[in-house]
Amino acid sequence: MKCTICKNGDTRKGVTSITLQRDGATFVVRDVPADICQNCGEAYVSQNVSRTLLKRCELTLKSGVLVNISEYDGSGDAN
Ligand SMILES: [Zn+2]
Repeated sequence: MKCTICKNGDTRKGVTSITLQRDGATFVVRDVPADICQNCGEAYVSQNVSRTLLKRCELTLKSGVLVNISEYDGSGDAN
């Protein structure tokens, strides 16, 4: 896939770290599968993966945790 940010690079499968911030809480998820631009480093996360991340973020928020760093485990990801 061609990168839509720099319009020069091609993306390749890899992993990235995603940071989500909501209601004063910060969530960092490592090893998230993404298509990474080989030119500018922009990471493209699939809809399935971002949905899984948001769901996890909400569950963690409900438990009262304000800072959470975890690794992506791929549950609920159809890819
Ligand atoms: Zn790019």
